[in-house]
Amino acid sequence: MARPLRTCRCGHTKEHELVAEEPEYTLWGWILLSMFGITPKPDHVVYRCQMCRQSVGSTRDPKVLARKSAPKRPPAPEAAAPASPPDAPASSPHPEESPRT
Ligand SMILES: [Zn+2]
Repeated sequence: MARPLRTCRCGHTKEHELVAEEPEYTLWGWILLSMFGITPKPDHVVYRCQMCRQSVGSTRDPKVLARKSAPKRPPAPEAAAPASPPDAPASSPHPEESPRT
C-alpha cells in the first residue's frame, strides 16, 4: 500500500473534507436500484472532489462499501415543540385597569 496519493486539480487528496466518497454501482446494482428500489452494495467507492468533480481514487474496501450501503438515517426532526420565549412580556390588555385612580 505504497501508492502515491493522487490529488485533484485543486490539490485535494481523498482525505480532504471536500472529497466525498461516492458509491458506484454495477449494472446489476443499478437494476436493483431502479427496478426494486433496493440500495445495493456498491461495487466500489470513488473519491471525488466536490469542487472540481475530479476523481482522486477509488476503493473496494469492504468497510467503506458497507458504510456506503448502510441505510441513511433520516434527518432527525426537532422533537421538541418550538420553544416559546421563556419570559415573554405579558401583552394582554388589562380590562380592570381604570384610567383614573
Ligand atoms: Zn478538486
